[in-house]
Amino acid sequence: MEGKERGLLLVISAPSGGGKGTVLKELFAQDENLRLSVSATTRAPRPGEVHGEQYYFTSKEGFEKMIGAGEMLEYAQYVGNYYGTPKAPVEAWLTEGRDVVLEIEVQGGAQIKKLCPDCVSIFILPPSMEVLEKRLRGRGTEADKVVQSRLEAAKGEIPCAREYDYIVYNDRLEDAVADVQAILRAEKRRYARNSDCIERVYPNA
Ligand code: 5GP
Repeated sequence: MEGKERGLLLVISAPSGGGKGTVLKELFAQDENLRLSVSATTRAPRPGEVHGEQYYFTSKEGFEKMIGAGEMLEYAQYVGNYYGTPKAPVEAWLTEGRDVVLEIEVQGGAQIKKLCPDCVSIFILPPSMEVLEKRLRGRGTEADKVVQSRLEAAKGEIPCAREYDYIVYNDRLEDAVADVQAILRAEKRRYARNSDCIERVYPNA
């Protein structure tokens, strides 16, 4: 095949505790063309989190400087902290033909949909609010007050699932992973992403 196809931009959102981390881990283990955008945040690292791996942990001033310099593709405030997607690596990967996942909350998801209408957005829903709360508490790394504020945030976020292209239930992990893979595969075969392929096969078409 001539030239390199531009990669696909995938926006994945879920309320925190929705289990999207596990789904993503499995997806990345199975697809070597996939790249995960590492966000910048002003929240404090959780135990075990490493700067440059889960996030770029930055000060509020540092974050605002990046915004001012136009280095963020999108950013939002969530439970009192800034979170944002550095623009440069995403653009470089898409140009290289890598598919890029933005694991972001709903305000950022809406910004990306406006900015890049051909992105594919997926909302991962927990099976129920009870399961969501159990998963949030089970993580055990957050104070009760933080769990409560994340639950409240989830209640605000879940209705935003209506704005997404696809809904995936995270009940059984294997099913959720297979659903995301199927979405990715079908989206790549859309005519709009392959409009030059007909002439490539048959120049007189
Ligand atoms: P956590 O603090 O649990 O790692 O993330 C809190 C929320 O921020 C999650 O919903 C996560 O998807 C979202 N988030 C992480 N990075 C970004 C980002 O770069 N931009 C936006 N808008 N949200 C993000």
